[in-house]
Amino acid sequence: MKKLFLLLLTIVVFVSFPASLLFGLSGEPKREFDEFIRNLREEKRIDQIGYLILVQIPLKKSSEDKILSLAGKFFYACEEGYLTHVNYARLQKFQKEKLSLKILDKKRLDDRKEAWYLVWTNSLEDEKTLEAKFEPLFKHQHTSLIRIKPEDEDYLLENKLRYSILEEELLPPKVSKPFESGKTIKVDPFIKDLVASVTVQMLASTVQTLEDFKSRYVSDPGNLAATHWLASEFAKIPSLEVATPTFSSYSGTMSNVIATKKGEKEPDSVYVVCGHFDSTSSGKDRKIAPGADDNGSGAAGVLEIARQIGRLRFPCTIIFACMNAEEIGLIGSKAFAKKLAATTGIQIKAVFNMDMIGDKDDNQVAVIGNSRSNWLIDVFKDAASAYTGLQSTPLYNSNIWYSDHSSFWNVGASAILTIEGYPEMSPYYHSSKDLLKNMAPSLMEKITRSNLAALLSLNPPIVAKTAK
Ligand SMILES: [Zn+2]
Repeated sequence: MKKLFLLLLTIVVFVSFPASLLFGLSGEPKREFDEFIRNLREEKRIDQIGYLILVQIPLKKSSEDKILSLAGKFFYACEEGYLTHVNYARLQKFQKEKLSLKILDKKRLDDRKEAWYLVWTNSLEDEKTLEAKFEPLFKHQHTSLIRIKPEDEDYLLENKLRYSILEEELLPPKVSKPFESGKTIKVDPFIKDLVASVTVQMLASTVQTLEDFKSRYVSDPGNLAATHWLASEFAKIPSLEVATPTFSSYSGTMSNVIATKKGEKEPDSVYVVCGHFDSTSSGKDRKIAPGADDNGSGAAGVLEIARQIGRLRFPCTIIFACMNAEEIGLIGSKAFAKKLAATTGIQIKAVFNMDMIGDKDDNQVAVIGNSRSNWLIDVFKDAASAYTGLQSTPLYNSNIWYSDHSSFWNVGASAILTIEGYPEMSPYYHSSKDLLKNMAPSLMEKITRSNLAALLSLNPPIVAKTAK
């Protein structure tokens, strides 16, 4: 019916324009007319078009709730507004709410030939490199938004540009209330012992094993081998449910490694501890991508925390997640976060992401969060200082999205990234020299311990009453 109406309207438009006027148009009126016709044509496939929009509202939690309730997700947040993706019906909802917005681009929802990418440009030089090949649709500080063909990813990798592919699927609009702990950290002797049980030797041994796969790049056989090895290590820990859920990417089907410890009081309230285990290097075939610091270190941290506390009992559920395909656009964590957020009843309480946690022997960690995660930065900072003496450099309201935590930001969860430094990181990342021997495992120990301390402060183990 609608189609018929549009067809009639198109005919009416054509017949009601005198041919002389139609063909005599030039300059501004012609452009307007062309745009009008183009719009009419597009209206016919109205529900197949995705609109990439910048919603120009203030950077705060209530704005985020609004976006999540109308679009289901957002990709990026800054003082200029929120970047998100909608179809026509959702776009109309934004317009009905009278929210000021800019349409940055339109694209068919089923178009797999091109995709939107957020690209991290660390310097002016990076920006120049990027813009020599692509024209950004949007730019803010270190972030550029482009639309490119997946095969052009190689250009980004070769130039060491970090990127994230925007999830173009439409998620169900759902706002989960961000949880906030007003807890002040008091040192608990039981937690203190657990924290101290994480040791540099075990962490280093895991990093060495991961390094020995030579490459864990998504298309390398080492990736699958590492997937199996990690799953088998988690499976050795009593009472964890281990799964390797698959997802697809441009590189084929692959798996995350997910180990779940079910909570006993609030099983639907979930804490996530994560770190990606895939690696990359800027070399042509990526056959040598040892990825010790990036991110054997974070994956080792996740496994070690699971080993130390997996056998205990907890009020809330803890998910230990080694993510895959981070290096090709955060694809594994996006698939995981999207699924978790869409599960009825689940509340994601907090996410701890470790990525590159052992470059040099110092006592500093950079802690990165967005506006829904500032409380979590504070919890981490206090727990780290109380239990390990590690000093945090907090980056509140940051636009640093280039690791798996941002997949959780996108669905409205509180998530932090702990990283060895920002902006200074290991000079060896994404190279054949990213080896354990070029790291300082002592920092890896402190950062892993601190994440464990923060997790246990929020979700303390249920201690069995000793029999009298
Ligand atoms: Zn990484």
